[in-house]
Amino acid sequence: MVQVYVFDSRGELVGPVHSPRLVLSDQEWQKRLTPKQFEILRSQGTEPAFCGTLLDNKQSGVYTCAGCGLPLFSSESKFHSGTGWPSFFQPIARGNVFERTDRSHGMVRTEILCARCDGHLGHVFEDGPRPTGLRFCLNSESLTFTPSERLATLADPAAASGAFQDTAKGKATAVFAAGCFWCTEAAFAQLEGVADVQSGYAGGTREAANYEAVCTGRTGHAEAIRITYDPAKISYDRLLDVFFDAHDPTQLNRQDNDVGTQYRSAIFVANDQEKRAAQAKIEQLTAAKTFSAPIVTTLESLAAFYPAEDYHQSYVQKNPHQPYVQFHSYPKVCRVRERHPELIRPKS
Ligand code: FE
Repeated sequence: MVQVYVFDSRGELVGPVHSPRLVLSDQEWQKRLTPKQFEILRSQGTEPAFCGTLLDNKQSGVYTCAGCGLPLFSSESKFHSGTGWPSFFQPIARGNVFERTDRSHGMVRTEILCARCDGHLGHVFEDGPRPTGLRFCLNSESLTFTPSERLATLADPAAASGAFQDTAKGKATAVFAAGCFWCTEAAFAQLEGVADVQSGYAGGTREAANYEAVCTGRTGHAEAIRITYDPAKISYDRLLDVFFDAHDPTQLNRQDNDVGTQYRSAIFVANDQEKRAAQAKIEQLTAAKTFSAPIVTTLESLAAFYPAEDYHQSYVQKNPHQPYVQFHSYPKVCRVRERHPELIRPKS
């Protein structure tokens, strides 16, 4: 398996997700590729300068591996190098392209390869433009171009449900948004069976997943947390119980003084199982009239979770005397302790 970024069915880059390596025999590759592609990708070939079909392509879009379809470069990092080969200053995601030393032809160069199928792409040199100073020198034959408006056609099976789950190791993840992530993180961090809680952003793009942008309320993100838990010790259903006790799910796009869509109440579901569990929980709480107003929590498909800046992690633990923490975070932490004493980790 490799950990890579791929496109989902909405045409958004998501990850890192686990994807199986593509390993084929030469014979199988020959059936799959054109002779020119085989020569470059599987035999470390180089196409003649100024001859590649993608050299002068200035369209907006994404370049994927011609061997396995993995996204490799974006038009946003393409530049005119004058060398005669398509040139980029960075890959679309670190990890999708890997490097190794190439001592062929009496030179020492850094070869670049597709992380999923090992296909030869070209070389990387340290004479590129800002911001990286790198020049990823590609063969057109190793790439397939897809224009921006058709990125959804690149949807990868690895982006589908369960991509963020690692249940084989007894670990699962859940993503919730319930207002300020400092409070929510602290409320869940005290539970037995919860290995880790991270504060971050869900619901928007990777580019705008930073605190300053999210604070504008215009990026589509919600302040969210990603809980890594052991399903043998605490179920998703119990996490939902804690979620509905750790905030007020009847407030639309706010939690008290925190106002804006970034503070909305949302459950980011990774698969149908989570979706059904969340729907059932809302129906159950509604039928029991647990809240005096309707629950406005949204169920949103989890495309990606972007961890927040370091200073937001374990914020309550690191800033116990901060007034916001005293007035807003502690009451939520305490409410969860009172209502679910059986779920609290001893000594927490
Ligand atoms: Fe590939």
